[in-house]
Amino acid sequence: MEDAFEFADDLGPAKIVHVHEPGIGLRGTLVVDNVAIGPSIGGLRMAPDVSTAECFRLARAMTLKNAAAGLPHGGGKSVLYGDPGMPVERKEPLVRAMACALRGCDDYIFGPDMGTDETCMAWVRSEIGRAVGLPTEVGGIPLDELGATGFGLCHAAEVATRDLDFGLDGARVVVQGFGSVGLHAARFLDERGARLVGASDSRGAVVNPAGLDVEALCEAKRSGKSVADHPDGEKRDREALIDVECEIWVPAARPDVIREDNVDRLSTRLIVSGANIPITDGAERILHERGVLNVPDFIANAGGVICAAMEYHGATRSAAFAAIEERIRANTAEVLEQSRRREVLPRKAAVELAVERVRRAMQWRRWSIF
Ligand code: NAD
Repeated sequence: MEDAFEFADDLGPAKIVHVHEPGIGLRGTLVVDNVAIGPSIGGLRMAPDVSTAECFRLARAMTLKNAAAGLPHGGGKSVLYGDPGMPVERKEPLVRAMACALRGCDDYIFGPDMGTDETCMAWVRSEIGRAVGLPTEVGGIPLDELGATGFGLCHAAEVATRDLDFGLDGARVVVQGFGSVGLHAARFLDERGARLVGASDSRGAVVNPAGLDVEALCEAKRSGKSVADHPDGEKRDREALIDVECEIWVPAARPDVIREDNVDRLSTRLIVSGANIPITDGAERILHERGVLNVPDFIANAGGVICAAMEYHGATRSAAFAAIEERIRANTAEVLEQSRRREVLPRKAAVELAVERVRRAMQWRRWSIF
């Protein structure tokens, strides 16, 4: 049994709840990290093997992301243990049972995550009324279809290039992971004159220094093909994408793709992260020393959660997108300014910005006077 307090610090977690209903086969964990700013928002992950410690780290990441994004929400995360690919007849009752088991935890609002989607959120909402990332029929804003996170990445990139000697127009872009986030990042950057020279997915990569047809690639993905099947470029192994020279590199696939053992292969000026923690700490320091600008993941990829929170508060799509643009631009500018002025890594500046906001909110919580 893990010691629930081994990872506790002065921010949280506020609450760890384990739920178990043997009759239906439900096993789940909720970590509510810090709710000083407001009720927590965070994804419901469905997976067989997430430890409580990992669930806590994911909840803390949401505390920082939501605080940095200026949302009136704290951070939380929940895990439903099981195979996310199980038949819907089994999955639906489990998701509904998980929602019911956590009905009383009204400081946690469910969102979609790995293994869950907008349909799961509709089930949660019908049980307990507290979910974001809903289908449009019940007031949702389809953030992956509209590209909320990719839109935010594009704005982060635009602001970051002000510190560099190139602009988006004509900049060469590489996108690792041409999925919901990567595809839209490529599309929004393309609209601003950038040139996509490389893209990958789990099945391979395609490279063309003269520029890839972004709309054709998006169409190919929508019809279930791989980017590697695209005829107007050179087909490569997916791992070879790291070697493609560019000005902007967008990791949008998995964690830890840039590490000490491969960071020297990367030839870029700016990294704007769609994926969460795509760069190890050691690799991040090496890049910083080399002068590669890196906008931290939870600053650059907050578009999705900003959209979800705006949905929860009844905003329209256009208001949600206006909020993404405004907040991500302001945060990127502030973090890079702090990093430059104090000569610290952008990530350190970003964490401090978020923690400072959480601490300021904590001073008004009732418990602070006891
Ligand atoms: P997705 O499943 O739609 O897309 C992921 C893409 O990465 C797919 O095209 C997949 O084929 C590709 N991929 C997987 N392994 C790869 C590999 N080793 N090399 C190259 N490509 C690979 O997922 P998504 O919603 O686009 O999320 C991508 C990442 O961004 C995840 O890490 C997610 O946690 C993070 N993220 C997503 C959002 C969001 O709004 N969806 C918000 C913040 C962060």
